[in-house]
Amino acid sequence: MSLMTDRVDRPQNAWEMALSQLDNVAALLRLDPGLHAILRSPKRELTVHFPVQMDDGSLRIFTGHRVQHNTGLGPTKGGLRYSADVTLDEVRALAMWMTWKCAIAGLPYGGAKGGVAVDPRPLSLRELEGITRRYATEVSVLIGPERDIPAPDMGTNPQVMAWLMDTISMHHGYTVTGVVTGKPLAVGGSQGRVEATGRGVMLTAGMACRKLGRSLEGARVAVQGFGNVGAVTARLLARAGARVVAVSDITGGLYNEQGLDLALVEGYKLDHRDLSGCPGGDAITNEELLTLPVDLLIPAAMEKQITEANAPRIRARLIVEGANGPVTPEADHILHEQGVRVVPDVLANAGGVIVSYFEWVQDIQAFFWDESEVNQRLERIMSRAFETVWDATEKYQTNMRIGAYAVGVSRVAEATSIRGIYP
Ligand code: NAD
Repeated sequence: MSLMTDRVDRPQNAWEMALSQLDNVAALLRLDPGLHAILRSPKRELTVHFPVQMDDGSLRIFTGHRVQHNTGLGPTKGGLRYSADVTLDEVRALAMWMTWKCAIAGLPYGGAKGGVAVDPRPLSLRELEGITRRYATEVSVLIGPERDIPAPDMGTNPQVMAWLMDTISMHHGYTVTGVVTGKPLAVGGSQGRVEATGRGVMLTAGMACRKLGRSLEGARVAVQGFGNVGAVTARLLARAGARVVAVSDITGGLYNEQGLDLALVEGYKLDHRDLSGCPGGDAITNEELLTLPVDLLIPAAMEKQITEANAPRIRARLIVEGANGPVTPEADHILHEQGVRVVPDVLANAGGVIVSYFEWVQDIQAFFWDESEVNQRLERIMSRAFETVWDATEKYQTNMRIGAYAVGVSRVAEATSIRGIYP
């Protein structure tokens, strides 16, 4: 069996990890060295430093980035992250992963990502708006509906997208809704966008179960992370008949072998902002949640949660990645050896960018769909992507991550090769 993850040599950061993943798949596909070199290089990178006046009257200088990895398939698409330790390398990696994710889903986009090194939590709304409007202005030379379309990511939300859209619109002198997605419904957002990522995770979990001869009905599920992705995934899995026995957030988790009352948990989180002290189950740590005896494990919090340290103790037979990068390459290798199936992030959490694509299409046409149309189209695209990845995994006798990368990389390589090298 050819599992290329053992060629990964303990990457030090996300960008090195993304490059090694690409190198492994390039070897598997016997990719032309010139094409491989093109795909290794981000097409455009912009780093900006800008001042913002804070509420106390002081000036603070912020650093932001926007990276467009590849435009072979169309304009670039990717989130905007506000996080204290964002680096250019992290943004590069996330941009490259977006290229493969869009290609796997068959969307007419290349990948991009943006980031501002700021912890948004202690900021006032006015400070957050100032940072967003100034960042939007600084990167306005790169973004636009035909060029590069941001969306929310960690630390940003629909309100931030609305400010970004308004700033670009002010510069143009008319409203340009299609410049960002993940906007509120009132300003050109799409029905179904808030639930889209969790819905996609639930759909892929169901498809993987069917392939493995199992069912979501009655399956015991643990979900790490109870934010946008985790909470929606848990709710929709329970609606599909699964028994969600454990959930967690940054403060820890909650376990009930009989199944949690998710309405109660969601209500508690609304009232208390986090899950600490939530009734309805026994308190557990995040580490304990990951190694529970469940059928399905959904990491939906953040990267590098399943590592070589805890992978040998994972008891779930199926992992579906809601978060980006929750399983390290070393853990991937261990899980594969143990016979644990991992449905990778570039496939499992693509529901968000797929419905972002629908939002962009609706904005451009100025014609909006109802939620059932959005959900039906999402399911069609997710199931087509799943089958394509499954076939590639069988063809190369590998794991689903490499199978998914093989699909994404070969599509972008083909487009690049057909377009030719300018001039
Ligand atoms: P979010 O901020 O809404 O929720 C994150 C959740 O994870 C929160 O419950 C938080 O308490 C928890 N968390 C944070 N750090 C943790 C830790 N160390 N241990 C355990 N729990 C922790 O974010 P989200 O939008 O749900 O995103 C979650 C993941 O999904 C991220 O990796 C993100 O990149 C990825 N993702 C999100 C989308 C989307 O549409 N929102 C799309 C694709 C991928």
